[in-house]
Amino acid sequence: MLQSLTACAQPRSTEINNSDTTTMDATINKTNEEWKKELTPEQYYILREKGTESPYTGKLLLIKDKGVYHCSACGNELFSSDAKFDSHCGWPSFDKEIKAGTIKTAVDNSLGMSRTEIMCARCGGHLGHVFNDGPTETGIRYCVNSISLEFVPEADTKNYTDSITLGGGCFWCIEAIYQRLEGVIAVSSGYSGGHTENPKYNEVCEGNTGHAEVVQVVFDTRKISLEEILHVFFTSHDPTTLNRQGNDVGTQYRSVIFYSNSAQQTIAEKMIAAFNNEKVFKHPIVTEIAPLKTFYKAENYHQNYYNDNSNEPYCRLIIMPKVRKFQQGFKDILK
Ligand SMILES: [Zn+2]
Repeated sequence: MLQSLTACAQPRSTEINNSDTTTMDATINKTNEEWKKELTPEQYYILREKGTESPYTGKLLLIKDKGVYHCSACGNELFSSDAKFDSHCGWPSFDKEIKAGTIKTAVDNSLGMSRTEIMCARCGGHLGHVFNDGPTETGIRYCVNSISLEFVPEADTKNYTDSITLGGGCFWCIEAIYQRLEGVIAVSSGYSGGHTENPKYNEVCEGNTGHAEVVQVVFDTRKISLEEILHVFFTSHDPTTLNRQGNDVGTQYRSVIFYSNSAQQTIAEKMIAAFNNEKVFKHPIVTEIAPLKTFYKAENYHQNYYNDNSNEPYCRLIIMPKVRKFQQGFKDILK
């Protein structure tokens, strides 16, 4: 059955009796003990025990700088500074989440009130509550503990942000892996390296556009190096098979690094030379190294594919084992 599953086949209707009923790991599930090790006592109290900081005490209450507010437990991006407003309630307030599905809610009947609790959808960390009395056009007021948030100013983000574009077979797999890596800010699936403009998925799959399925990885250079990004790349696909990853065959599945600057090119070339010298792989690496010309972002339904479709057969049978293997091999640098 596995043999028939390739990325382009999109086996959405394939009937498969899969005995693996483990829950999907689109979310982060850690034990209380693990969280206790990672979080400060104040963070643990708010994020894991659903505590509330005293009003007007949070360090982010008055900040008006441009930037992004992340979950302080898992780094997930939650709110843009554009959504922040002064609600005079004593806690940082926002009128919308940065992206649909970033925040999950639950009914909270504690303290004799009926409220809607908000949590980070990725790690389940308690953020605060949401109310329908917002003064802006959304009518929503996310009332959030400062301690649940980490603010990254835009100026910082720009100075320490780099991006690289990588092809290693089906982009659904590679995207799912990089999304779980600490220091990765964003991952987009797309197409690059071909000779047609604005390619569509089915055109790329037919193999005549010259484009490869790629992911563009934006990362924070303070948290992860390009070497680490590439190390993950070389271990999460087979860089020794020309124009092929498993059952996915064609130049659209070629192993390729599209570099954004010459420093990236040098690092990539050195790594490949070192791997070949040390015979890390049984066969020589065939990964193409080429300058990035244009990155065409793929259709929306390809973005966040594994997380949004984790029950699909392809995700369960092909992507999930790869993600699991990656998570075991790179425990120290996961989100
Ligand atoms: Zn989180």
